[in-house]
Order: sequence, then C-alpha cells, then structure tokens
Amino acid sequence: MVAAAPRATVRIGGARVTFLPDGYGRLNPDVLFPASAPDGWSTHAAYLDDDGRFPVSVGAFLVRTHDRAILVDLGLGDVAFGIPGVADFRGGALLDSLAEEGLTPDDIDTVVYTHLHHDHVGWTTNVAPAPDTVANQCVTGLTFASARHLVAEAEWRHWAGTDDPVGPHPDAVQAPLAQHIAFLADGDEVAPGVRVLATPGHTPGHISLVVTDPTGEDDDRLVILGDVMHCQVQVTESSWNFAFDVDPAQSVATRELLLKELEDEHTLLAGGHFAGHVFGRVLPPRAVRTWQRRTPA
Ligand SMILES: [Zn+2]
Repeated sequence: MVAAAPRATVRIGGARVTFLPDGYGRLNPDVLFPASAPDGWSTHAAYLDDDGRFPVSVGAFLVRTHDRAILVDLGLGDVAFGIPGVADFRGGALLDSLAEEGLTPDDIDTVVYTHLHHDHVGWTTNVAPAPDTVANQCVTGLTFASARHLVAEAEWRHWAGTDDPVGPHPDAVQAPLAQHIAFLADGDEVAPGVRVLATPGHTPGHISLVVTDPTGEDDDRLVILGDVMHCQVQVTESSWNFAFDVDPAQSVATRELLLKELEDEHTLLAGGHFAGHVFGRVLPPRAVRTWQRRTPA
C-alpha cells in the first residue's frame, strides 16, 4: 500500500534538494500504462492501492544553494478534478509545503519547468482551472513574481497557441507567461552545480536537471527526472510508456539510455510522481533492474 510522497530533503554537498508536495493523483494503471496489459501489474501490486489504482505524487523540487532558491515544476495548483475511468487529481498544498521550509514565493529566484503538462504548471499564476474548463477568476499575476521562468524552447513552441487539456491552460498559464518566459538548452547551467539535461520523448522539449555540489568537493549527483519515469516500476519495466507520451518510442529510448547512465553509486534520482518516497537510486541489473529507496537523514 503506497500513497503520495511526503516532504523530504537530500543533500548533495552544498546543495539541498527538497520535494515539496502539492497533492496527488490516483490513476487507472491499465489505461495509463497500455503496455502493462493484460497482467503486467501482477508482479508490481505493491505499487497499487487497495482499489487497484496507481497513486502518484504531485509537487515541485526546491533546489537551494547558499544564495539560490530554484523551484523545478509547479504542481497542479489549487484544483481537484476527475477524468472518468482514467484518473482523479487534487492539488493545492505547494505554498504550504514551501512555508514549512521557511520560504515565501518571493524567496524563489528561478522557476524551471521540466515540461508544460498541466500537472507541472499549476502554480504559475493564482488561477488553476481544471483541464477543459474556462478560468473563472481573473489572473492577477505570476505566483513567483520575483523569479525567472525557464523552459526548453522546443517545449514552449510545442504548446504555444494550443488548448490541449493536458497542456498549459491558454489563459491561466500561456498568456501570463508569454511576457516572462526565457529558454534553456541542453547543458545550460541554471545555477552553479545545476545543469539542464535534454530528455525528450514524454514531450518534445522535456528536460531533466542534474544537481552537483556547487563547491565541487562532493562527487555525488542527483538527477531530477521530470516525467522520464512516472513510477519506480519503470526502472524495471523500462518499455512501459505513459499514455500521454507525445513520442512513445523516443520516450523509451530516453528512459533506457538514462537508466544505463544512472547505474552508479554516486547518482541519486528524484522522481516527482513516485509514490511513497521520491528519492532513490538505480541498482544495476542482476536478473532485472530494481529500485533502492533512499531514506532522508
Ligand atoms: Zn507529470
């Protein structure tokens, strides 16, 4: 039995990376992982809840160094909705999670989006409509008004001008961001020790972030995956696509390449949708790849 992950912090030398919960999703595993049918979940039942649904965490990662505070992704926002037969979602806790770390929105200097799916952009402004609905409030501005807002250019171009319900809402997200957004490319340094790693497939401009010690003294690194994987099961079942992957073949290729590179004792992973606990590492294949949970200090 698993549930959405709690707030937790790991240190990479002089950097601290904290998972900030916003909410959760409960998903139909057969619909959202089509390759798992007919009985792929039978060996991974520990990742399903009592109703046979697949719980996911939703939130953001806060990366802090001595003088920087970066948020990676912005959760669902203050919203709850269901997609019959597919999933239920609830968000709303992100600013409370941030406050529990002693920070306000004005303390955030940078927002980085791994991609622009609905569940990663929710706190962009004060308005977070459910997908396929009209915003019923006025947008008064960006939530993190002091921050630079960064995304890969291919990601911005993919969604700009669209009203796809899985993407960024035209009125609540795209229009307010358009005046502020700046673009990132593979290898760019967002802050000392924080670099962009292009991981396309789930969406065209999807990125992950690699966090290393800004002082260079510690060999460890942490990779904030974004949606390269939605659950720990995909460490083992790396060919299982998520139903909303824009390019399923590219998504598998990216995941398998990354998994090979991450089988390394100095590398921690952060999976923002992982239930139970978001940090861990990939153990190299014995018979199959497996997941090792990392308990915070
Ligand atoms: Zn997502």
